[in-house]
Amino acid sequence: MMTPNDIETVKQLLASPKKIVVIPHRNPDGDAMGSTLGLYHFLLLKGHQPVVMVPNEFPDFLAWLPASETVKIFERDIETCTKLLKEAELVFTLDFNVLSRTGDCMEAVLKSLTVPFVMIDHHQKPDTYATVTFSDTSYGSTCEMIYHFIQGLGDSNLLNKTIASCLYTGIVTDSGSFRYQSTTGTTHRIAAEFIDLGIDNSAIHSLLFDNHSHNRIQILARALQNMKVLPAYKTSYSSLSQEELNSFGHSKGDTEGIVNYGLSMKDINFTAFFTENKDEGIIKISFRSKGDFDVNAYAREHFSGGGHINAAGGKSTLSLEATIQKFIATLATTKID
Ligand code: 5GP
Ligand code: MN
Repeated sequence: MMTPNDIETVKQLLASPKKIVVIPHRNPDGDAMGSTLGLYHFLLLKGHQPVVMVPNEFPDFLAWLPASETVKIFERDIETCTKLLKEAELVFTLDFNVLSRTGDCMEAVLKSLTVPFVMIDHHQKPDTYATVTFSDTSYGSTCEMIYHFIQGLGDSNLLNKTIASCLYTGIVTDSGSFRYQSTTGTTHRIAAEFIDLGIDNSAIHSLLFDNHSHNRIQILARALQNMKVLPAYKTSYSSLSQEELNSFGHSKGDTEGIVNYGLSMKDINFTAFFTENKDEGIIKISFRSKGDFDVNAYAREHFSGGGHINAAGGKSTLSLEATIQKFIATLATTKID
């Protein structure tokens, strides 16, 4: 994925100590947080002054990640964060392909910068803003790419338990715990190496998946009750209105992973999960599929989104009901095998 030329360019960029800002996408998930913090710890060891800056809040179930308390939240303190960005000598953007995925305000600041950018990402159709672009959709996670990035720089000896704990997190969350098609022998060999480095893999799984609040379980229960099945299309879908979310006192990250239940049924190859977000005036949609049905292409075509073959997202500015009606209408012309 990294050409010898790219490796040389990055080595040059990292040759002297620098102020570096490392940025994931808005609404960061396990891979976004794991890859940015994993890279942060690596850059610290290389003698740089890195800071991880997220566009908006990250979910609580990731707050155990080492150094998460140092993370700057752009939308919470635009002034300080803009200053940090203007002082940066180098910017890494991880786990996203277009600057618009940082949100309007942060995107505008990023576009005004003139320092070099390095993109490391596994989404389709990367934009061309970066001096160096490592983009490869064959990787299951950006965390796995960071492992290869560190190896490519000849710095494998710097991998330690802290970096490995961060990178393991994104490998696990983006692969659905090693079950999606993108999981390779190499993915497992990297996980094995991380376990040998001393990560507590069992504890990490628990922190990620057995760490829910009672509210979150009630939200899940409601989403499961709301689940509809369309056998003719091998499709299921569910939704949560803002009112339902409010009634359970929801917090960020509570809807994470719920979409997967729609795919856990026999003879269902496509599922969608709609979440109403009144603050942002949008319906956020998650799509998942089994086998060859490409939800990335589907999300791009119908819901201004994207992602990967079996996991993608999108949005709609219609009402929740109208969005679901639009979704159902698309199924007649969509081939789901
Ligand atoms: P999730 O459903 O977990 O939010 O997202 C699944 C995958 O689709 C992730 O890789 C995520 O980055 C991508 N994704 C989610 N929403 C969007 C979107 O609005 N646009 C694009 N391009 N990708 C998205
Ligand atoms: Mn990812």
